[in-house]
Amino acid sequence: MLNMIMALREIKKYPDPVLRHKTSRVEHIDDTINQLIDDMVETMHAAPGIGLAANQIGVPLQVAVIDLGMRENGVQRHELVVIINPEVLTMDGVAIEEEGCLSIPEYVEKVKRATKIRVRAVDRTGRPFEIEAEGLLAKALQHEIDHLNGLLYIDKLSPLKKNIFKRRYKRLLAEKI
Ligand SMILES: [Zn+2]
Repeated sequence: MLNMIMALREIKKYPDPVLRHKTSRVEHIDDTINQLIDDMVETMHAAPGIGLAANQIGVPLQVAVIDLGMRENGVQRHELVVIINPEVLTMDGVAIEEEGCLSIPEYVEKVKRATKIRVRAVDRTGRPFEIEAEGLLAKALQHEIDHLNGLLYIDKLSPLKKNIFKRRYKRLLAEKI
């Protein structure tokens, strides 16, 4: 029997090129994928964050985890969502709200997102399912699916805001060295 031990993985930070590559579909859900999911959940909770895509820990596969529970002041109101090979079916509405990313530390900016989304994915047992979401979960799903396509929320900023971001982020990186 395999003894699964969860492990924290290093979260890759912008501008690491792994964040820019489109991830590959998962063909078989085996022990390696299950271990990956467990590690991703642990890494997301430890950060702490509400979502994590596999390429954020350097694994270029279509796997993402979301747990909004972290945001509810200790009250667990949301289930853990694991999406493998997600596909966006429909998106509706527009909302502009602040967003951040574990791969872009110490920066938040307002981003335009759909308010409702319908996604088809496979769960960790290999079963296909559909999820219809609004509000924060809809936003998190869009953010994580963007990651799996090599996109970051800063890609959605206006040229002016992108420049401000780049200057600030450069300074932040320089301070940390
Ligand atoms: Zn992110």
